[in-house]
Amino acid sequence: VSVELYADLSAAAKKDDISKSINYGEVCHFIKLEMENHTFKLIEALTAHLAKKIILHFQLVEKVKVQVKKPWAPILLPIETVSVEMEKQWHTVYLSLGSNMGEREQNLNRAIALLKEDEECQVIKVSSYRNTKPVGGVEQEDFLNCALELRTLKTSEELLDLIGVIESKLERVRTIHWGPRTIDLDILFFDNDIINTQRLTIPHPEIINREFVLEPMCEIAPYWMHPIYRQTMKQMYAAFKVK
Ligand code: ATP
Ligand code: CA
Ligand code: CA
Repeated sequence: VSVELYADLSAAAKKDDISKSINYGEVCHFIKLEMENHTFKLIEALTAHLAKKIILHFQLVEKVKVQVKKPWAPILLPIETVSVEMEKQWHTVYLSLGSNMGEREQNLNRAIALLKEDEECQVIKVSSYRNTKPVGGVEQEDFLNCALELRTLKTSEELLDLIGVIESKLERVRTIHWGPRTIDLDILFFDNDIINTQRLTIPHPEIINREFVLEPMCEIAPYWMHPIYRQTMKQMYAAFKVK
């Protein structure tokens, strides 16, 4: 097993203090114990397991790369090793939440609680909840909206899967597009990534047109920069208001 750890070591360097760094001795013993206590069929599974456990256990680690090499692969050919390498890192994500059916405040609270329950997610900041008139032309109740900052180990695809699970736990029934729903979670930003796939468009394309997104974003991250428009949330909201 070969591991690379990425962390801010400036405090340890300045103070000459190991408690401000990551003790590589502890990391080695930690890996040894994990491998003794778990059995995997595939080195893929072992590699993913180690990456996740290391980054969750050693709090200073922002990113980890794990390589697992397996000697003597049973293929009856003279190959010394096969190996798998994986990375795991903390991402900064902003979500928009909305509810306009049932107990709206309770729905937002429950969605946030479900995010917190996932060991790969930390809810860092939540904006205040605001009442919003519905957009999109469908006759329906007002929404309660907020935005939140998430620190997560998940990829954007994995996060979208979690959102789907949370939406179905809150009994969101998919009927009309832009129609009423108990809960809606949208990914606004995922680091500075720009993503366009079948399942995902990030940054969310409607940010610029939605006061119920721009206003709470200004509350929790006024200087967050939109990676396409190259404007902060504050600048985008100011431009929205004069439109
Ligand atoms: P809008 O995205 O305009 O707010 P909506 O939230 O009502 O509309 P949904 O019915 O909740 O739309 O989502 C439809 C699909 O949008 C989801 O199944 C998902 O695959 C896709 N999607 C694309 N980009 C994102 C994103 N950034 N966040 C969440 N879902 C997204
Ligand atoms: Ca939405
Ligand atoms: Ca949505």
